[in-house]
Amino acid sequence: MNYYSTNGKAPIATLEKAVVKGLAEDRGLYMPERIKNLPQEFFDHIEELSFQEIAYQVADAFFGEDVPADKLKQIVYDTLSFDTPVVPVKENIFSLELFHGPTLAFKDVGARFMARLLRYFNGEDTVNVLVATSGDTGSAVANGFLGVEGVHVYVLYPKGKVSLIQEYQFTTLGHNVTALEVDGVFDDCQALVKNAFMDDELNRHMKLTSANSINVARFLPQSFYYFYAYSQMKKRGLADNLVVCVPSGNFGNICSALFGKKMGLPVKRFIAANNANDVFYKYLQTGKYEPKDSVQTIANAMDVGAPSNFARILDLYKGSHDAVCQDISGATYSDVQIADTIRECLSETGYLLDPHGACGYSALKEGLKPDEKGVFLETAHPAKFKDTVERITGKVVEIPPRLAAFMKGTKQSVSISKEFTDFKLYLLNQ
Ligand SMILES: *Cc1c(COP(=O)(O)O)cnc(C)c1O
Repeated sequence: MNYYSTNGKAPIATLEKAVVKGLAEDRGLYMPERIKNLPQEFFDHIEELSFQEIAYQVADAFFGEDVPADKLKQIVYDTLSFDTPVVPVKENIFSLELFHGPTLAFKDVGARFMARLLRYFNGEDTVNVLVATSGDTGSAVANGFLGVEGVHVYVLYPKGKVSLIQEYQFTTLGHNVTALEVDGVFDDCQALVKNAFMDDELNRHMKLTSANSINVARFLPQSFYYFYAYSQMKKRGLADNLVVCVPSGNFGNICSALFGKKMGLPVKRFIAANNANDVFYKYLQTGKYEPKDSVQTIANAMDVGAPSNFARILDLYKGSHDAVCQDISGATYSDVQIADTIRECLSETGYLLDPHGACGYSALKEGLKPDEKGVFLETAHPAKFKDTVERITGKVVEIPPRLAAFMKGTKQSVSISKEFTDFKLYLLNQ
């Protein structure tokens, strides 16, 4: 299957090129030329299938022409070695818990899938993945790529600007993961990575690639979740009039859900839940897309002022605001509202939300009609935001063993300045 750019000015690319390059030459996002419908029979029996079996059928529709069946199956099965249960929270409202992977957040699946697909395409050469992080992406990518042969990951993060838990999730891994502690801010890290990709000498010395969230190999596999959520609701006899609510920042996750709908997934409608960064919400209300600087919130993985996957959503709906609005509605919440929701949900139901999932839960609680059932995505474990959640609830948040294990590791990082010449010299010596 070939991939075109949302900007329409770059050559058509193969899957391999789209995965290795990430972004098209015209700075557009790659889109698959066709979105295949899955057969009715698949949906008729979906509740009898495991998560891995469901995911393989979906992956086959996207990648089956480009990756041999046995290889693709292995990639899917390796990626999904943990569960994503659907848990009842309140009448008609269910949580799809996406925090049972290595770093306890939903980005694990995309990162793990991409690592394995990249390895497949790259053959014997070592490929070096550069990733700049303000916290969560670095841990998902580092853990997703950990131990994958033929791939080395360099995580660049701003010194003193990520939480201790986040830092330990990518500095204690060793093996094929190197953490670079940059004396600067996140933007400096991002600038170093961008400069590296543009530097001819460096690119002759080593094969470089990015693991950006716009990569088709990271964002498309997220659609697996939605098929699985549907199957779990169908098993309960609750799949009619299903509404799925996605806490959104860069809109990669919800975009993969919309791909699922185009493939025939019987979800009635979607809600994109935002924190105070409400650019998409405003677009739904007015038809105008006006990106702006992000504002800092307690749901910080959604602090995005110019969602990169907006271009994909528009492309999917051929630019029609009306068509977008038929499938998606929006919601936006302030930090105060998020905190109130966490407190209320805990006292009413006993379920502890994280600040991102809280936006999703709120939107369902407010927007669900009597004949509808709702599933929101709980995108991270509340322990990842321990300080915030404890401050809100006044109760201690238990740290799951998997997260605690990181804290027992030894931090290993290489300190570098924010000057490109230092970074380049370091890489040239590897
Ligand atoms: C990345 C992230 C989001 C937002 O997902 P997008 O695909 O960027 O919309 C939501 N919650 C958590 C915990 C995240 O890490």
